[in-house]
Amino acid sequence: MLTTEKLAACGGPKAIPDGTVKKWPPISDVDRAMVLKSLEGENHAFGPNCQAFEEEFAAWNGNRFAITTNSGTAALHMAVAACGCGAGDEVLVTAYSWSSSATCILHHNAIPVFVDIDFDTINMDVAKIEAAITPRTKAIIAVHLHGLAVDMDAVLAIARRHNLKVIEDACQAHGATFRGKKVGTWGDCAAFSFNQNKCLCSGEGGMFVTDNEELRDKARVLWSFGETRTPSQSRDYHAYALGWMYRNNDLTAAFGRAQLTRLSSFIETQRENAEALRDELQGTQGLILPTEPAGHAHTYYNFTCRIDAGALGWNDHPAKLRDKIIPAICAEGAPVGMWQRFILPAMTVFQAKNAFGKGSPWCLGEAPVDYETAHYPVAQKHTDGHFGMTVPLRAPNSTEVARAVGRAIRKVFENVEQLY
Ligand SMILES: *Cc1c(COP(=O)(O)O)cnc(C)c1O
Repeated sequence: MLTTEKLAACGGPKAIPDGTVKKWPPISDVDRAMVLKSLEGENHAFGPNCQAFEEEFAAWNGNRFAITTNSGTAALHMAVAACGCGAGDEVLVTAYSWSSSATCILHHNAIPVFVDIDFDTINMDVAKIEAAITPRTKAIIAVHLHGLAVDMDAVLAIARRHNLKVIEDACQAHGATFRGKKVGTWGDCAAFSFNQNKCLCSGEGGMFVTDNEELRDKARVLWSFGETRTPSQSRDYHAYALGWMYRNNDLTAAFGRAQLTRLSSFIETQRENAEALRDELQGTQGLILPTEPAGHAHTYYNFTCRIDAGALGWNDHPAKLRDKIIPAICAEGAPVGMWQRFILPAMTVFQAKNAFGKGSPWCLGEAPVDYETAHYPVAQKHTDGHFGMTVPLRAPNSTEVARAVGRAIRKVFENVEQLY
């Protein structure tokens, strides 16, 4: 049933009253008690909460080892280094992600090689991986984007055939599973983020995880000043290799531990809210809903929709319609947004091929690497037509909020000509 209503963007009433969508993350007495206890403690650097957070997160995810970091990007850099990627080596990564899924490769002097995405899953198109492999390829970074796991059977089969390491960028995918097994347990090692926007928020922070002791040790050297002993062991303060300072701190780890006690229930809430939203939006003309392929459990870190501009009778560039629809939905009181304006290869750091000066690391490679943006048409098509949301589906928001957001989106799509 189509309803004709005046859009809020055109002076009509708002679909959702102010204050309906609650902020993320929910703060409870557990958070207050654990953060205050850390504050009263004696070690605010790599203290007891950091060690406990590592053990508890490893247990939650099903990994043997975990190292807590000050960001997901730090954990990704540790993964690239631990897997032996170095000067002039090539590492494959999706053409559509957060910048540090690819700049982490540059951080260790290696060269990112982009693979276009699959439109339905928004993840790296596994059918396009093999064509990108060269004798210099060392590893594949599988980014589980927006809470949907990459098809890890396909990635691991390719990696085995070509003797490549597999790094999982699970920064958006805490708790997502593929064939019932959690992300972060498939590859050689993985990175998680605990930034404000992620499904586990400790303000900032991250975690490197692996089941391989040798990789754990290599990552740890990079993590803390090039030392081989951790701050909780007896240190010799000797830099054995080039190190960074990627450690987490006790207050942040206390917050992370407190949130971790509710992470599984947060993810359940997201899945319930996503189903309510999907139910409300099903059948909306011109709107493509996210897919959850068989064998995958999506966490809906970001519930990402695509606009079918043609189906809405729009004949100009699709990005122009996206840029009208997003503010119109926001005006109805539903906080949605564009996630990335640019595909990764289009970003200046790659186009200019100059990370460290004098053309490094690209000058260290054997053959030139091509960042011609026309080679990633699916990633570009997705970028031009997408919008998504995080907070409205997160705890403490309920299915009532998700349904209200759905009605606001449907109102805009059913009255979209008012924006033309
Ligand atoms: C957030 C994010 C990162 C980086 O995490 P930080 O903690 O912000 O450094 C890396 N990859 C993806 C896919 C992300 O969403």
